[in-house]
Amino acid sequence: MKPVPFEYVAVKSVNEAITALEKYGDNTVIIAGGQSLMQEMNLRQARPSCLVDINGITDLDYIEETGDAIKIGALTRHRTVEKSEIVKRNCPLLQEAVTHIAHFQIRNRGTIGGSLRQNPPGAEYGVVARVLNAQFVIAGPDGKRVLSGEEFFVSHFKTAVKQNEIIVEIIFPKLTKDTGYGFLEVTRRHGHIPIVSAAATLQLNEDDTVKDAQVALGNVSPQGVPYKVQSVSQLIGKPFTQEILDQLANDIKNEVNPDPEADAKAGYTLQLSRIMGRRVSEISSAEYRKEASSVLSIRALQKAYQQIKGTFQ
Ligand SMILES: Cc1cc2nc3c(=O)[nH]c(=O)nc-3n(C[C@H](O)[C@H](O)[C@H](O)COP(=O)(O)OP(=O)(O)OC[C@H]3O[C@@H](n4cnc5c(N)ncnc54)[C@H](O)[C@@H]3O)c2cc1C
Repeated sequence: MKPVPFEYVAVKSVNEAITALEKYGDNTVIIAGGQSLMQEMNLRQARPSCLVDINGITDLDYIEETGDAIKIGALTRHRTVEKSEIVKRNCPLLQEAVTHIAHFQIRNRGTIGGSLRQNPPGAEYGVVARVLNAQFVIAGPDGKRVLSGEEFFVSHFKTAVKQNEIIVEIIFPKLTKDTGYGFLEVTRRHGHIPIVSAAATLQLNEDDTVKDAQVALGNVSPQGVPYKVQSVSQLIGKPFTQEILDQLANDIKNEVNPDPEADAKAGYTLQLSRIMGRRVSEISSAEYRKEASSVLSIRALQKAYQQIKGTFQ
């Protein structure tokens, strides 16, 4: 199929983009890499009356290092993030996660802003953004606002970005040298959107007890937003033993709450089946996602531990 007729405006600045989003009406949307939007338009799942093409805003294509953070412009391609020395040095967890996104052809075009705005459940950037407490800079007619991950992600394929706003930058804190990290996901096959994804960070005290532990999971919350695991805080101050991890594994299974009805919800069903390229009835159940949450969280933490200890394979 082909898209319905639409107008097209190419802009060269953030202000021009905001003006165009307002001028051409409510059904006007941004196009960045087009890797999700064009597919939706061709299938007529999206029927925008006007596209605002932001590929000419070259100012939004950058990766910068500041004191304790790295700043990534919204138009930065997945492939640029993957290959960046700044990301490799300061936020290797993000770099590892990006290699799991789709195939390199899609990573060559798709942008970090587009992916985060799309917010498909389980998507890699969202999980990393949540575990690291990244911040989102959004520009609109009234200027800029900065949102936390908790504020930014709203529900399946929904974020707090308004129709007349544009994501301009994502700020990731640098990982300190003593932080171990792990990223894992289960997918139907490499390059598919994850069924469940997990990102973990870990720091140890000198006596080998846990100083800090964080885990975020994708596609396990009823709202379909990246989820920060609460029960992982029980590790703090304790030795990193198998017994304690077994207890945590059990608690994570009880804590996460994948929506059993999610597959039946129209919007979600449509989007998920499109992204996964198969019928929704074939997609793994909530029970499976609970089990996967627990296994992936523990393995991601173990990877982080092995990394700190220098035994990482
Ligand atoms: C076969 C296939 C497999 C994929 N696998 C994965 C995967 O494993 N993991 C994963 O995370 N993704 C996956 N994707 C999606 C891919 O990462 C897309 O690149 C991404 O979702 C959208 O980025 P884009 O720049 O192409 O955005 P577009 O398609 O151009 O836009 C997507 C949405 O974001 C909006 N938008 C874009 N930029 C901005 C901005 N700066 N501010 C506000 N709104 C904006 C658009 O209006 C639109 O609503 C896959 C896609 C395909 C086709």
